[in-house]
Amino acid sequence: MLVLDGIRPDVLQAAIRAGEAPNLGALAERGEAVWDAVSVFPSITPAATAAIATGEAPSGSGIVGHAWYDEEERRVVVYGAMTETVMATGPIKVFHNNVWRMNRDDLYASTLFETLHDRGFDGACVNFPVRRGPHKHPIRLKTVERYRKNGRYLGPSVEGPKEYFMGDLFYSRETGHNGRRASGGLRRSVGINDEYAARVGAVLVAEKAAPFNLVYLFKGDSIAHHHGLEAQRRWVAKADGYVARIFDAGGGVERILEDYAVLALSDHGHAPLLPGRRHVDLRRILGQKVSSGVRARFANGTTVVVVPNGRAALLYLREDVELGDVVENLLGRRGVDLAAWMEGEWAMVRRLGSAIRFRPGPGPGDTFGRSWELEGDPRALDLDVSGGEVRYGEYPDALERLWGCLGSSRCGDVVLSAAPGYTFGEVSGGYHVASDHGSLHASDSEVFVLASGVSAPRRITDVAPTLLDHFGAGKVAENLVG
Ligand SMILES: [Zn+2]
Repeated sequence: MLVLDGIRPDVLQAAIRAGEAPNLGALAERGEAVWDAVSVFPSITPAATAAIATGEAPSGSGIVGHAWYDEEERRVVVYGAMTETVMATGPIKVFHNNVWRMNRDDLYASTLFETLHDRGFDGACVNFPVRRGPHKHPIRLKTVERYRKNGRYLGPSVEGPKEYFMGDLFYSRETGHNGRRASGGLRRSVGINDEYAARVGAVLVAEKAAPFNLVYLFKGDSIAHHHGLEAQRRWVAKADGYVARIFDAGGGVERILEDYAVLALSDHGHAPLLPGRRHVDLRRILGQKVSSGVRARFANGTTVVVVPNGRAALLYLREDVELGDVVENLLGRRGVDLAAWMEGEWAMVRRLGSAIRFRPGPGPGDTFGRSWELEGDPRALDLDVSGGEVRYGEYPDALERLWGCLGSSRCGDVVLSAAPGYTFGEVSGGYHVASDHGSLHASDSEVFVLASGVSAPRRITDVAPTLLDHFGAGKVAENLVG
């Protein structure tokens, strides 16, 4: 499985049409290609990669975004995003949160690596952030080792699949592509990059090292954030070269597709931002005392803690705060597309002066076979309800995805989704300039899936069940979100 972070389906299609991505093109041609598969909400890397690795939406995986407010610990947890967010939070702390805490403490659901191991299949993982598994891997990097001895954050090892590679930080064995010559410490990416992923991926395939291999290429996401979709398309050509390296190591694309089932997909899309006034600042809400930033918490009269997650935002309200007033104030703001929250057993959504509430139950069915009890105005979610069916417009798989977000208390009391062109920015207060993601809207929610040897999943939450079926290992726990 190849996960290409944040690559828009239309960007990959354009690259394939222009002959710039012949290897991914060959996979699309020989296998099955889905260009409107769907990410989770918020459409943010930690939530989306957790969904891919576990088959669970945020409410089931426990991983809701880049950052969230931990009400028990009374502090914001940041898994890392922009460099300035990392620097504001402290690189060691983010490292701790991303590499250790997220997998060890916050991830509720079993990963593919764990479930496959239980059924007798070893896994291999290169750079993918959600990698919990049954094998212990010690830190290899000396600079981190030093931090560890002096600090309280980093642990001595992590648990991963049998073959686990993450730059110079972890490698389960020597491949010639780790450590030694690589230097730079924590402010550089400690050898964690796509070139490295391709090299190690090639070794794994050449050696047929494990039945299940997961290689993660992530540069295309940050290129889109900083330089836009044209630049992302140029990167796709480069990424295709990395894919070629892996395919060639296994004897070429034909041979690879004979020997392996192959899945290539992105975890979320990307929405271009407006040239000016693209940032929706949530630090002021009429009548409220807002706390935001990496040190946000309820203190000194704070009534609302705001945790932006790109084009989504999580709001945590003090118990006595009138939710309706907060929502009313925010919906009048330019760039705020919709607000969603739970009210008893119902998920509530307001957009464009219309409102709808819903929950799983008797009612029209969606394309994935779940039926929904709906009350109110379907236009609030751009739904087309007729003949016992719900069809989605601008917000793909909206009901399931909202339900899979709002079911987690970690998502807070109100969740916002930004209008196309806008972003709520980062928890640090900064924001991307060219493109961002996180919303419920199709632009950042749709992903591509290329599949050979397995039927292509239509949602990223269907990836894990599809692969477990492929290995004859059954489905992951079928407990519905809640
Ligand atoms: Zn991103």
